[in-house]
Amino acid sequence: MTMEFTDRLTRVEPSATLAISALATELENDGADVVDLSVGEPDFPTPENVVEAGKDAMDAGHTGYTTSAGILELREAISEKLADDGLEHGTDEIIVTPGAKQALYEIVQALVAEGDEVVLLDPAWVSYEAMVKMAGGSLSRVDLSETDFQLEPALEDLEAAVSDETELLIVNSPSNPTGAVYSDEALEGVRDLAVEHDITVISDEIYKEITYGVEPTSLGTLEGMEDRTVTVNGFSKAYSMTGWRLGYFAGPEELIDQAGKLHSHSVSSAVNFVQHAGVEALENTDEAVAEMVAAFAERRDLVVDLLEGHGVDVAVPEGAFYMMLPVDEDDQEWCEGALEDAHVATVPGSAFGTPGYARISYAASEERLQEGIERLVDEGYL
Ligand code: PLP
Repeated sequence: MTMEFTDRLTRVEPSATLAISALATELENDGADVVDLSVGEPDFPTPENVVEAGKDAMDAGHTGYTTSAGILELREAISEKLADDGLEHGTDEIIVTPGAKQALYEIVQALVAEGDEVVLLDPAWVSYEAMVKMAGGSLSRVDLSETDFQLEPALEDLEAAVSDETELLIVNSPSNPTGAVYSDEALEGVRDLAVEHDITVISDEIYKEITYGVEPTSLGTLEGMEDRTVTVNGFSKAYSMTGWRLGYFAGPEELIDQAGKLHSHSVSSAVNFVQHAGVEALENTDEAVAEMVAAFAERRDLVVDLLEGHGVDVAVPEGAFYMMLPVDEDDQEWCEGALEDAHVATVPGSAFGTPGYARISYAASEERLQEGIERLVDEGYL
């Protein structure tokens, strides 16, 4: 029997970040000491009190299904967190998901129909493209690599990319893979275009808590954006909870109702005891988060200085834990070579729509970061 897969799926590439990680693991299994700068997860343990809250919730029997949108206690805590960011969303306007990725998937499925146009700001996180393609949408892309990955100087390009055909625009600030935090002026430019062309905007704020001396504005707080913004966030990055799979989205009730159907017919709900741990993460982790962010800030400075010492200038990230390293035009070959020869894993920029770069994650110890850069220099990659 020959299987006939849908075009929607066959047009999608497997995740490049996960592919590099798999290759790195293969090398490690063969005995190589790989410096893995490809991973998109904090190298810190989940805060102890959050782990305890998860265990306590299990012991208390919180192991059954929950309300599909998530336990009320967690949605209340999320609603309060969003209010601190200036966003007004009642518990009826929030859906808790198994990870922010699932939140994004549900929103894209709910809003994008066959042929609808979606605008991405490149480099863009790898799964946006895949999600849009899986929904049957088409992509219009804006290249930010000429403007040090900042959006404000590229607003004219964004204006050229959007039209009345545009259904959705995805904004991710702080950005994976660049670490850029978009200025208020840039976000106001997004708002003006969204209002003019009646576009819904996803504001993926999963790195909002990880910034260095800047306070990112939530797009939904801008006048005119309240009813056209869907805010996405999650617990993976800020609270070092990648494997717990917990995220959420908040938006206009209409969208929540529609996406809620998809949510209840696919995942049912996020894991019960994990949701209880999420309440603890939102309420009692300020110190742990601050410590982690301070460590990332030091590592960012270290990597930027080391690279500068080798004559490599990068756009200095203001958030998240990534930066884009300018490499050969054939970034795929560069990354494969760096992994094979120097045993340093990075992710090709072309996976994010921007060839000529490799993404470095500095969610690794200072020693490993130093070691990785030394190896890239020794093997002639820097
Ligand atoms: N959005 C961005 C920009 C990300 O980088 C990630 C993870 O790498 C996610 C969403 C999804 O996060 P999770 O599903 O782990 O909550």
